[in-house]
Amino acid sequence: MWRDIRALPIRVPFVDSESGLGFLLRAFSANGVSLLKARELFSIKDWRLLTPEQAAALSRATNAEPHWLAERLLMRDAQTPERFKYFGQLFGGHAAYANISAKVCPDCLRKKRWCHRVWILPGAAYCYVHGRPLIDSCRRCTKTISWLRPSIDLCKCGRYLEGDLSIGAWQAMPLASAWTQWLDLRLDTTRTSESNNIAGIPPFLNNLSIDGSTSLVLAFGEHERPDDSVSSPRKVTPSKLSAKIQRGIERLASIDGAPHEARRWSPYVHTPTLEKMKRSGITSADRRCAALLLSYVGRRSPRCHGGKQQRGQLELFF
Ligand SMILES: [Zn+2]
Ligand SMILES: [Zn+2]
Repeated sequence: MWRDIRALPIRVPFVDSESGLGFLLRAFSANGVSLLKARELFSIKDWRLLTPEQAAALSRATNAEPHWLAERLLMRDAQTPERFKYFGQLFGGHAAYANISAKVCPDCLRKKRWCHRVWILPGAAYCYVHGRPLIDSCRRCTKTISWLRPSIDLCKCGRYLEGDLSIGAWQAMPLASAWTQWLDLRLDTTRTSESNNIAGIPPFLNNLSIDGSTSLVLAFGEHERPDDSVSSPRKVTPSKLSAKIQRGIERLASIDGAPHEARRWSPYVHTPTLEKMKRSGITSADRRCAALLLSYVGRRSPRCHGGKQQRGQLELFF
């Protein structure tokens, strides 16, 4: 019975900035057990649907303190089951889907040999240490990087995970880099206030949840050209996502303090994302902010809101 599984003989050190899945991959592979095998042993159907009992059993097996591990695993929130919790922050269900692929920075992996907590977030696409996009597929076999790989830096195909090191393989995107650093600070309860000081990130995002800020950045960065008819496909490479984030932050920074300016970005914005945030944003500030911005960029009901700037509400966010 998986509840009776004892502690693994070889222990690995704990790293506070590591994701729970990354820790489990490291802890089990150090003992010659893949996460695929661990999933069988602990009757886990889906890593996104771990029960508290399974998380507790995994912590016993890996000698981790239960709360320490549970906090690092994207798990359903006990109070609001449609939401997920990660490092004490709430996320919508879409965060869980992003959790399927395992984005990594190959340079960080080679140097540190653990998976950074921020890589799991749907809005993380760029390494702020090495100034390059994360990768989500293996260069050798071209398949999506899996959590069920044999060890932290090996693909399921058996080759080392490597990025494209050729000159010009990626372009520097300082705002996408600052954004990942901002996300990481927001996950760290001891350093959250430092997120106010990240250059280039619009300060008003600090009033919103990580989930809501990510939705705004992605909504505003959606189209490179006005009225691009094609929306991003569901699966976007970290390079393309980085470019989208870079655009989204630039545009949001241009309306910080002057939200009515959002109107000029109207042909570039993905309004369904804002509509969803208005309906089911994580916090009331998220929902109000989405409603306010929609009143400027939404084209469905320009007569209701378009004529007037709602100054009374603006102070809440800007
Ligand atoms: Zn890196
Ligand atoms: Zn491979």
